[in-house]
Amino acid sequence: MSTFTLSDPGQGGGFTKEEHVGHLCLFVEPQAEETAKYSGEGTQTAARCTYAVCITCNLVLEDLLVFGEALAPRLIGQGELVTGTLQLGKARPPRSAPYVLDVATNDERTRVQQFLGKYAARLPSGKIVIETPAVEEEE
Ligand SMILES: [Zn+2]
Repeated sequence: MSTFTLSDPGQGGGFTKEEHVGHLCLFVEPQAEETAKYSGEGTQTAARCTYAVCITCNLVLEDLLVFGEALAPRLIGQGELVTGTLQLGKARPPRSAPYVLDVATNDERTRVQQFLGKYAARLPSGKIVIETPAVEEEE
């Protein structure tokens, strides 16, 4: 017997952007990744993140693909830790409102640094790992 416990997949989950509007978010090591468009025509650039964190919700998600024509380019190439407040931009009909990331205030940056100080570590390889904070399960 091994000491590992196996679990079944959860129900969907992932990072649902509309649930985090106005929240302080952190995207770790965003890299450009070409993905097929939902329409099936052509590709779009998404941001592959080793972690996506909502500091406000204490939510840590691993290996996440972040979509959004406005959002993804704001993450890619900015550095290994991109932080900001998720906001809904102005809609330009017929297109729906895009998600954007507002620049974090100094207070928010301090909150992110405190979170990282508690839950993040850098491996000898340089890779950043983030532990999921223990939080009360929400029903
Ligand atoms: Zn949130």
